Amino acid sequence: MSAPTADIRARAPEAKKVHIADTAINRHNWYKHVNWLNVFLIIGIPLYGCIQAFWVPLQLKTAIWAVIYYFFTGLGITAGYHRLWAHCSYSATLPLRIWLAAVGGGAVEGSIRWWARDHRAHHRYTDTDKDPYSVRKGLLYSHLGWMVMKQNPKRIGRTDISDLNEDPVVVWQHRNYLKVVFTMGLAVPMLVAGLGWGDWLGGFVYAGILRIFFVQQATFCVNSLAHWLGDQPFDDRNSPRDHVITALVTLGEGYHNFHHEFPSDYRNAIEWHQYDPTKWSIWAWKQLGLAYDLKKFRANEIEKGRVQQLQKKLDRKRATLDWGTPLDQLPVMEWDDYVEQAKNGRGLVAIAGVVHDVTDFIKDHPGGKAMISSGIGKDATAMFNGGVYYHSNAAHNLLSTMRVGVIRGGCEVEIWKRAQKENVEYVRDGSGQRVIRAGEQPTKIPEPIPTADAA
Ligand SMILES: [Zn+2]
Ligand SMILES: [Zn+2]
Repeated sequence: MSAPTADIRARAPEAKKVHIADTAINRHNWYKHVNWLNVFLIIGIPLYGCIQAFWVPLQLKTAIWAVIYYFFTGLGITAGYHRLWAHCSYSATLPLRIWLAAVGGGAVEGSIRWWARDHRAHHRYTDTDKDPYSVRKGLLYSHLGWMVMKQNPKRIGRTDISDLNEDPVVVWQHRNYLKVVFTMGLAVPMLVAGLGWGDWLGGFVYAGILRIFFVQQATFCVNSLAHWLGDQPFDDRNSPRDHVITALVTLGEGYHNFHHEFPSDYRNAIEWHQYDPTKWSIWAWKQLGLAYDLKKFRANEIEKGRVQQLQKKLDRKRATLDWGTPLDQLPVMEWDDYVEQAKNGRGLVAIAGVVHDVTDFIKDHPGGKAMISSGIGKDATAMFNGGVYYHSNAAHNLLSTMRVGVIRGGCEVEIWKRAQKENVEYVRDGSGQRVIRAGEQPTKIPEPIPTADAA
C-alpha cells in the first residue's frame, strides 16, 4: 500500500477514478465531456435528414405515412415507456406490450429499461441533483444537455426496476436494442413507403430520420417545457407544470403538475376537453381487450390537492392586504384618556373596545358627517352594529385599518369572554396569520354589549 499522494485518493480511497462529469470543463478536455454517441443520435442524424430533405421530394402519401408513424412511435414512448413501464398505470396484454416495445424503440430514445429507470429517478428526486434531467440546471439541460454531456451514473438516484427485469418483453428489447432501433426506426418506415408506393428514399428521410427527430424533440419537451411553462394547480413546491401547448406537443403529457402528483393515474388530462391522445389510446385498447387494470385516483383525492393549493394561493394573497394592526400590538388606553383625547379634537371612536381614529374619514363617511361625529368620544358599539345603522362587512374591514388602540378592560376582555362563551378557536393560515372571515371582525358584535356610558 503506497501512501495516498493524490488529493482525491485521500478523500475517497474507494474511488479509483474520477468520472469525467465530475471534473471542471475547459478547452483541453471539453470533448471528453461530450457523449458523442448521443450527439450523433439526436443531433447528427437529424442534421443529415434536414440536408437530405433539400433534394428528396416529399410525396403526399409519404407525408401522411410519416405523420401516422410519428403518432405510433410517439405513443410507444408516452403510452408504453412512460405510462405502462415507468409508472405501471395500467396493464397490457403480451401483443400490446410487444407492439409498444417495438414502436417505442422506433422513437430512438434508448431501451425501455434504461428510460424507465431514469424516469423513476426523475419522479423520486424531482429538481434535485439526483434527478437525471433536473430543470434547475437550465431549460436546455433538461431538454438535451443531460444526454449530450456525459453524466456520472452514480449521481442519478437509485430506483427499483425489479418488475421491469421480470418482463421478458423489456429484457428482450434491452438486449436487442440496436436491432430494434434499426428495424423500427429506419427499415420499417422505409419499407412501407418503398413497397407501398415506391418512395424508398422519401420513406427513409421523412418517415425515418426526420420523423425520429420530431418524436425525440416532442418527447424531450416533457422534461423541459413541462417543467417550465404553465400553471401549478396541485402543488407548487416543485417545478412540474400544466399547459395546453406542452400537451399538444407531447401527445397529452402536458398536464405534468397533475402527473407528478398522481403518477400512477393512466391519465394526464382529467377533463374531457383537455388534449390527451395517450389516455384516449389506452382507453381504446381497453375496449379492444388489449389493456386492463387502468388506474385512476379518486376525484376526492384529486380535489383535496387542488383545494390545498388554492388555500396556499389565498394565504399569499391575504398576506399582501392591510387588515389593520393586530389587536395585541395596539397600545392600551384608559377610558378617561380616550374621552379626553376625543374632546381635544381627535376623531376617536370606540367600537367593541377598539379605538379607531376616523379624523380623516369623517368627510368621506357615506352616512354623513353628523352621524359619524355623534359617535366620537363615546362607545359606538351599538350604534355601529345596528343601533343607528347596520354597517356592512366592508365597513368593518375598512374600520379595522383605522385602529389606534384598545380600551383597558374593553376589547381584550370582551373578546376573550365572547370566545370562551362561543368556544371560538381563531383560524390561522399557513404562515400563522389570523384569518378574518366576513362577519368575524372584532368590531362585529352579534348582540351589542351595554355601552360604557350606560355602565
Ligand atoms: Zn417530470
Ligand atoms: Zn412520469
